Amino acid sequence: MAVVLSGRVLVTQPAGLDGVTPIVTHRAGNFMGELAQLSGGPGIVDATATSHVEVLLLPSDRLRALLVAEAELGEQIMRALILRRVGLLETGGGGPVIIGAANHPDVLRLQGFLRRSGQPHQLLDPEAETDADGLLRRFGLAAGELPVVLCPTGELLRNPPDVRLARCLGLVSALDADHVHDVAIVGAGPAGLAAAVYAASEGLDVLMLDCRAFGGQAGYSARIENYLGFPTGVSGMALVARAYNQALKFGVRAAIPEEVTGLAPGDDRGRFTLSLGPEERVRTRSVVIASGARYRRLDVAGLETFEAASVHYWATPLEARLCSGQEVAVVGAGNSAGQAVVYLAGQVDRVLMLVRGGTLSASMSRYLVDRISGLGNVEVQTDARVTGLEGGDGVLEAIRWTRAGEEQRRAIRHLFLFIGADPNTDWLSGSGVGVDGKGFILTGRDAGADRGPLETVRRGVFAIGDVRAGSTKRVAAAVGEGAQVVAALHARFAELTSGGSDGAPSAEHQISSCSDNSSASSTSMPR
Ligand SMILES: Cc1cc2nc3c(=O)[nH]c(=O)nc-3n(C[C@H](O)[C@H](O)[C@H](O)COP(=O)(O)OP(=O)(O)OC[C@H]3O[C@@H](n4cnc5c(N)ncnc54)[C@H](O)[C@@H]3O)c2cc1C
Repeated sequence: MAVVLSGRVLVTQPAGLDGVTPIVTHRAGNFMGELAQLSGGPGIVDATATSHVEVLLLPSDRLRALLVAEAELGEQIMRALILRRVGLLETGGGGPVIIGAANHPDVLRLQGFLRRSGQPHQLLDPEAETDADGLLRRFGLAAGELPVVLCPTGELLRNPPDVRLARCLGLVSALDADHVHDVAIVGAGPAGLAAAVYAASEGLDVLMLDCRAFGGQAGYSARIENYLGFPTGVSGMALVARAYNQALKFGVRAAIPEEVTGLAPGDDRGRFTLSLGPEERVRTRSVVIASGARYRRLDVAGLETFEAASVHYWATPLEARLCSGQEVAVVGAGNSAGQAVVYLAGQVDRVLMLVRGGTLSASMSRYLVDRISGLGNVEVQTDARVTGLEGGDGVLEAIRWTRAGEEQRRAIRHLFLFIGADPNTDWLSGSGVGVDGKGFILTGRDAGADRGPLETVRRGVFAIGDVRAGSTKRVAAAVGEGAQVVAALHARFAELTSGGSDGAPSAEHQISSCSDNSSASSTSMPR
């Protein structure tokens, strides 16, 4: 951040490929900066001195110290940083430019990643441009090479994976393999975010890793109505973005997207090693597993071919735009399915809800059942099972299902699945962390007679949130466990200082579970 002491600085944001839009002129007494400066990331707008300028530069660690030490001033600065980012998101200015068709599966993926990471960006769709050929000629591209991403650094990336895009934006940097963190948190859903905020606010050195984006499942919730303190409800993204910024304020080191693929045993000083892919490692005195759950998929032939563009596991404004004016189908009967139906009913023409059981109220909260029954454009079919998907080139054209032994078919291009989730614990295979028959992590008494609450079979390794056996699968419960685990961490560190030892050793084992959505086991996850 920079405080202007004298002179003038013009702040602009890029508009399209060539233009710029002025945002503000800072004068003496104003400060320059936005959320990226909290974590020392590169700026996403441009600043030009329009006169001789004198500024006071505050590196990100000093900025964070100021926010914590000066409560009132800190609140004003934090508010301004957030509002500036919100302004950029609302005007669609700054950040990278994606060039590609709006409904291309990889454009949707890239936009989804940037949206989930709270990154402003622009989309140039050659099909909507008056001079599409000119646009492609300018970058020496053929239409088949799209999408590409033009980074603020000027670098051109051809259909990059999320992690490559994140690197180009300065969202992830190499981790120091020699540094020993107090705690490494695997997963940045509500549980991981809460643990990060409380641990860092109590002075611990915290590394938080997530293989997708911060927010976990909650980030996909259109409206959370049962979280304490939000009588009018709150969108999942709004809630988790607040928590993420709070974590950065307290100095949490976030590595997102970064997948943890293995957990090695603790050494005789109680230190663990986490593997991140084949080469990278991080070391830590304790591990908090908050890797949550992944969506279950339908067992229907050809499902994966439609997953990029027509089958969705969440309902956000991005999906709603794709389905505008159409009929869509939602499969599931839990609260997440109910929320999606309520949200989509206001965005699309009609919603067909397919429920395997005989009634909605067996698995859905009363308020959602009532709301759905009052929606004129929602048709609920119980005792229904999807049996087939029709279409080509990744685009769904119709779905088939059976009801009371009769097969039915309807032309529907978008299918939303909310049929529960399985624990993200494949990556722990061989690590010595015990799980139950469905793969959820055992903690406390279930893990061993002398284990503390939330502690796993491995001393110094804790599990919180949806991934923990017996936990309540709710945002509030995940956040509560995130707060609670910090006391357990302090107790563990005190024990280590007084000479306690690590638990049973086991061989390091690496397995990737983050990108793998497939699942064999099944368990019901109430929402
Ligand atoms: C659409 C939807 C709507 C919902 N609505 C509500 C609601 O209204 N109210 C409510 O109380 N609950 C709701 N829930 C449930 C709630 O979101 C979950 O209970 C909560 O998010 C669990 O938090 P968590 O942090 O334990 O796990 P998750 O939210 O699952 O987060 C886990 C994180 O770990 C990451 N991860 C996994 N494996 C790895 C790895 N190997 N390396 C690195 N990172 C990894 C994932 O990418 C993910 O970000 C909803 C869920 C969904 C899907």
